[in-house]
Amino acid sequence: MIRIVIAGPRGRMGREAVSLVHQTKHFELVAVVDRMNEGKTLAELDGFPAIEAPIFTDLERCLQTVQADVLIDLTTPEVGKHHTEIALQYGVRPVVGTTGFTEDDLARLTQIAEERKIGAIIAPNFAIGAILMMKFAQMAAKYFPHVEIIELHHDQKLDAPSGTALKTAQLIQQVRPSFTQGHEAEKETMEGARGALYDGMRIHSVRLPGLVAHQEVIFGGDGQTLTIRHDSFNRASFMSGVRFSVETVMKLETLVYGLEHLIE
Ligand code: NAP
Repeated sequence: MIRIVIAGPRGRMGREAVSLVHQTKHFELVAVVDRMNEGKTLAELDGFPAIEAPIFTDLERCLQTVQADVLIDLTTPEVGKHHTEIALQYGVRPVVGTTGFTEDDLARLTQIAEERKIGAIIAPNFAIGAILMMKFAQMAAKYFPHVEIIELHHDQKLDAPSGTALKTAQLIQQVRPSFTQGHEAEKETMEGARGALYDGMRIHSVRLPGLVAHQEVIFGGDGQTLTIRHDSFNRASFMSGVRFSVETVMKLETLVYGLEHLIE
């Protein structure tokens, strides 16, 4: 049985995670960390019938009160960073879905995890299909160096390109000779028409209501194209990665950033 605390249980990802933990036989939800509702239980809030986990507004107090193995954090980048450090200090293994960790943050947190021999996973993308899409794209780029990335997201997303598009480009860069694609005399008659440039590859960002998180990587060769596409249609698509991370973090003794380092 893995004892779990979830931070951010009322959020869209948090609600999915509560449901995942509740439905998984060898997972036990021992508490949640919310911004409000201290002293209540989840069962007293709308949408969590019969889930009796106590609510704390402070992670440190929570970890001083309940025995936990894993913290799943699905809050905000700033809170996620703070919670990761506290969890490690209390010997609780963090599984974190927020972004915004700098190289310095990762180095510091890795050092704490290794000193204490505690596993930690920070996963900017929990969708296993998206991780495979990136890996397949890296494989294909060895044979098809002409590539364009089109990422498509809901119109409330603030950053462009997406972290997944950038990560895909970085993985491709590791195996693709550096060169600028397209005609050497190519000229944009309207700014942005050819998308963002990363090491000679183009990345295009589409933002529309109705979309969730999607990406296509299109490779072109003589007389053929190859398209690798992944679609997340809802937040449930991230939960197999959360489950995998909770199970895997129990066996780690360091911090791993990105599920691509764990999926063979
Ligand atoms: P959301 O619906 O806005 O949920 C975030 C939740 O965090 C809210 O309920 C918020 O509470 C809560 N929160 C904020 N500060 C808190 C604190 N100090 N303690 C406890 N809870 C706190 O966002 P979402 O779509 O679920 O996404 C959550 C996070 O996961 C975001 O950082 C997002 O970028 C990330 N994400 C990751 C993946 C992945 O695959 N890794 C996929 C999707 C999203 P209030 O309602 O009171 O503000």
